[in-house]
Amino acid sequence: MTLDLNHGSSATCDPHDPRRFNIVSDQVNDAIDAVLVARNRAQPSRDYIGASGIGRDCLRQIQYDVMAVPKDPGRDFAPKTLRIFEAGHRGEDIVAAWLQAAGFDLRTHGADGRQYGYVQLGGRFKGHIDGVILTAPVAMALPALWENKVLGSGSWQDTVKKGVAISKPLYAAQMAIYQAYMDLPNPALFTALNRDTWELYAELVPPNPALAQEMSDRAVRIVRACEHQEVLPRAAGRRAAKVCAGGHDGNHWHPPCAWQDRCWSRPS
Ligand code: SF4
Repeated sequence: MTLDLNHGSSATCDPHDPRRFNIVSDQVNDAIDAVLVARNRAQPSRDYIGASGIGRDCLRQIQYDVMAVPKDPGRDFAPKTLRIFEAGHRGEDIVAAWLQAAGFDLRTHGADGRQYGYVQLGGRFKGHIDGVILTAPVAMALPALWENKVLGSGSWQDTVKKGVAISKPLYAAQMAIYQAYMDLPNPALFTALNRDTWELYAELVPPNPALAQEMSDRAVRIVRACEHQEVLPRAAGRRAAKVCAGGHDGNHWHPPCAWQDRCWSRPS
């Protein structure tokens, strides 16, 4: 049999498209999106507060999340968001490999193959660290926490300009908790990979015991409220607030809250 490898030889080209390629983007992407959505739906819901979310602005939102309260219809993660999440996980592996190749003794998993982490409040407040650095080819106190994020260009540039504590207080809270609970009191190595340019930003972040205490107190408050079926207060006085509806409030970008209908259908 002779293969006809001429471009578009078996194409079902749109006759109105001036390009002569056989474009199947929609079909390919639909197939990928379907599997990403199915995989996400198959994930068991989390019944604990994660360190990555404890610094969110709204206590009620964290509470809805930890109680696995169903999101408003249509508020599940969009396939595009699931792709970005996956890029974050893969980017973390890439940066870890770069650091290790550059001479950092970076440990990301224990001998049992699991990530290092902490468990507090009877399992209701947990977190897993990206890694711990034991030796390094740059001047830094060791051992040190390693925390990595993968960011879009605008967000990355804001982090470079302002530093992580100002630009990304959510991440600062996460690191403060890790440094406190994992007994890693040296400055953490925070790295941020620009997923558009592949540039890497690195910053040493000192421990912040006051912030760690504040976050720990928050976790206690949320867990107690869940135990007593008490609904925690809203972070905003109106639904149009950026923390609820989503958007940039001048300082930070907020994703739209997934429980807006539920929250604002209550009297308070
Ligand atoms: S809608 Fe706003 S106030 Fe209500 S849980 Fe979400 S972020 Fe909090």
